[in-house]
Amino acid sequence: MTQTSDVVIIGGGVIGGAVAWSLARRGINVTIVEAGRIGRGASWASAGVLAPEWSAHDPPALTTLAEDSLASWEDWVGELEEHTGIGLNFRRDGLLNLWVDPDAAHLPPELAVECPPDQRGERLSAAEVRKLEPLLTGPIAGGVLYSQDGQVDNPRLAPALIRAASDLGARVLTDSPVASWLGTAGRCTGVRTLNGLEISAGAVLIAAGAWSGPLAKASGVTLPVEPWRGQMLAFDTPARPFRHIVFCGELVLVARPHGPLVVGTTLEKVGFDSRVTLAGLHHILARAERIAPGLGDLPLARSWAGLRPGSPDGLPYLGPVPGWEGLFAATGHGRKGIILAPITGELMARAVLDGVIDPRLAPCLPSRVVDGPQP
Ligand SMILES: Cc1cc2nc3c(=O)[nH]c(=O)nc-3n(C[C@H](O)[C@H](O)[C@H](O)COP(=O)(O)OP(=O)(O)OC[C@H]3O[C@@H](n4cnc5c(N)ncnc54)[C@H](O)[C@@H]3O)c2cc1C
Repeated sequence: MTQTSDVVIIGGGVIGGAVAWSLARRGINVTIVEAGRIGRGASWASAGVLAPEWSAHDPPALTTLAEDSLASWEDWVGELEEHTGIGLNFRRDGLLNLWVDPDAAHLPPELAVECPPDQRGERLSAAEVRKLEPLLTGPIAGGVLYSQDGQVDNPRLAPALIRAASDLGARVLTDSPVASWLGTAGRCTGVRTLNGLEISAGAVLIAAGAWSGPLAKASGVTLPVEPWRGQMLAFDTPARPFRHIVFCGELVLVARPHGPLVVGTTLEKVGFDSRVTLAGLHHILARAERIAPGLGDLPLARSWAGLRPGSPDGLPYLGPVPGWEGLFAATGHGRKGIILAPITGELMARAVLDGVIDPRLAPCLPSRVVDGPQP
């Protein structure tokens, strides 16, 4: 059976959803093809933090892109809520990025790395940190406050984006894994699903998160997307324990406005294994308890893990795939896919529709890794 669509998007996470909504708003006929359920991949597992400075290891081009994206978040999410009626709890709570006393016992040395503030951040002493967040009674040496950073109710984000797109006419196919894309002579003409459905399309976008690598390989393209596992925990809290989002190394503490307290995370390269492990939980809890010892009595509500779509150079793949006219990638967002959703949606819609490659996409073009396959 064959169907047709202007654009087929492979993957119903926040990235596929953001591009679908941007295209549907421009009157484009979009089909989203999702292997399982909408928004149950990394987009659901995430901490939902909107912070360009998540990690000192990130390439500067990624931080710049994330800063630009953060600037558009308020309007973008406001319109999305208005269109769908789905509350997404976007809040600019501010973020405290901490470092600890290098001589503190039982704390790994990486947590002692001081984070010099950029122009957005305000440097704080340990006493000032404690004044803002009295539960941080561990061996804090100092911090930087990013008052514009925020959080969002990420599990609802992909479903809201797909709802907004489908309200504008987008077609959504769930439980339909794409097996490969179609095409000959260097032109991508659509996709084929595992259950035999063929959808012909003027353009195809790969937004299959951590699974984008194997998907591309099935069509003979090497797109090095690596699954990076992240484990998370949630605790029930009688009152909101922190007003700000708290970071220390990879440790993140996010108090949702009406509970729970979400605590993470790990960054593990263990393939497509998305199970929670004792070692992973220990890694998170040992750090959390040292920073905020008073949290020890909180009841554990649940734990989970997800696979971030990582890339070897830490940058996403955004743009046309060389050698395949009509084929585009929007994947490999690593630790920043939630914050990057608005800018990815906007810039990729322009790339797909008008062939316009925004200069900010230059460091992220797939051509840096894909030479051009032999179709
Ligand atoms: C623990 C954790 C914490 C995180 N915290 C943050 C954070 O605080 N802030 C932030 O900005 N980012 C964070 N991230 C990263 C962020 O969640 C991801 O970068 C983002 O969700 C990636 O979105 P995506 O749509 O590319 O992938 P996904 O959400 O994984 O969606 C990909 C979709 O593609 C589908 N798919 C796969 N293969 C196929 C196929 N063959 N055919 C059809 N569909 C297919 C999958 O089923 C899935 O639904 C975190 C991630 C994790 C795991």
